[in-house]
Amino acid sequence: MPKNNRHTAYRPRLPLLFLRILATTATAWLGLAPAFGWGGEHNRITAAAVEALPAGQRAAIAPEAAILARLYCEFPDLNWPCYGEWGGGNADPRLPRFPDTRREWDISFYCGWDPVLQKGKSYPHRAPESVEAAAVHFGKTVEALRAGRLADAARFVGVMFHYIQDSSSFPHIQPIHRAFHATKLDAIRTGGYEPQQLGNTPAEAAAVLTARVRKLVDWTEQRLAPLLAETGVSLDEAKRLTSKELLPAAVTRAVVKLRAEKPADYEAAALDCANECARLCADALHSAFALAPSLAAAKPNPTNTNLAFNSSFESGDGDRAPEGWCVGWLDPNDRAGRAEWYRAGTHWDKPVRTGKRSAMLLWSPQKGLEWRQTWRRAVPVNAGETYRAAVWIKTRAITGSTWFAMQFYDTAYEPVSNAKNEVVKTDCDWKKLSLEATVPSNAHWLRAILHTEANSGAVWFDDVEIIRTAR
Ligand SMILES: [Zn+2]
Repeated sequence: MPKNNRHTAYRPRLPLLFLRILATTATAWLGLAPAFGWGGEHNRITAAAVEALPAGQRAAIAPEAAILARLYCEFPDLNWPCYGEWGGGNADPRLPRFPDTRREWDISFYCGWDPVLQKGKSYPHRAPESVEAAAVHFGKTVEALRAGRLADAARFVGVMFHYIQDSSSFPHIQPIHRAFHATKLDAIRTGGYEPQQLGNTPAEAAAVLTARVRKLVDWTEQRLAPLLAETGVSLDEAKRLTSKELLPAAVTRAVVKLRAEKPADYEAAALDCANECARLCADALHSAFALAPSLAAAKPNPTNTNLAFNSSFESGDGDRAPEGWCVGWLDPNDRAGRAEWYRAGTHWDKPVRTGKRSAMLLWSPQKGLEWRQTWRRAVPVNAGETYRAAVWIKTRAITGSTWFAMQFYDTAYEPVSNAKNEVVKTDCDWKKLSLEATVPSNAHWLRAILHTEANSGAVWFDDVEIIRTAR
């Protein structure tokens, strides 16, 4: 469930770093909502489910395990249209720009719903829709695993887990959901549980998963029902009232009473529900792996082929950005910088090198502004391979520094090193920048970065190349 329910005032969950920035600058007047749904529980249940897998499966998911638990399992809570926009996503003129996490991770693709284009299918984070969402993403997980696309599979797992997890946290009774926390997150464990295979075909396993998620909702209701009844409001009554109103006062009072009078019992119930949920998550992931027994090893990249996706920035999905590229707003407080998917106009001057489009950066701040490849389109690399990368650049009235880089990252998606071309400081017409680099030992991903900083002029980039060279 989003930290702020979709029916309430529109305020999406903020990335942690961003929250920290806000905490130091803005909480005095911002008044962040005190009542949140699940947050850390998503992360911990995910980690516990992975820990329960048999050793072979644990090894297979290992490269993506940390980020699955840290980020992918939150994808449905990060799929909002405000990412990359001003005003903290709330049109608040005092707030900085929202980092564009949604586009950087292609979160809408993995969730199957684009909130900007209103394309795909949006699943509310509660049963019955959450049940269907879990099964749909189970199918996508198996498909990706069978094709040897581990990173894609792990991202679909994250979405599937999220919907299973939300299903077990009383999203249908918001006064409970918003305060249903296991405060000792480390206590969330499957306790030696051996994951079960849900079916022998993807369709059968998806059908069983559907039934099991429904059962999980019943199980959590039965777990909490006796405690809630002691407050004088039965679970059925709570469900009836919350079907009419998001936060009925009688139910909110009952939850407050229960937490005040029996805090340990209430938290034990939340922990039991989280553990039951972790076991089902383990079953789902175990089954997906079991249905893709020959997880294909990723093939090394071909040589002498341009590996840069949408290298000339020609294709897009109508969302103001070229497909496979996103903007790195390096200074969220900057109000001037612009990053535009540039279209050749009808004027005599058309700053595109080929086709009809280029990627433009204008009026960049000191801290910089850049176009970068989204993670879905990052190039998987292996230590020791060599790559040659190039981009064409055109500038006008530039100041500051402009450069092009091959940035290498480890399996945790953290930068390990970057190979940069010479900094461009004077105006030029279309000119090719190129560089070559060997993949460092701990690198697993490569992204092209088109960067400019402290620049009161304009820069256009076109025709990116990333080529693995034969050695
Ligand atoms: Zn959610």
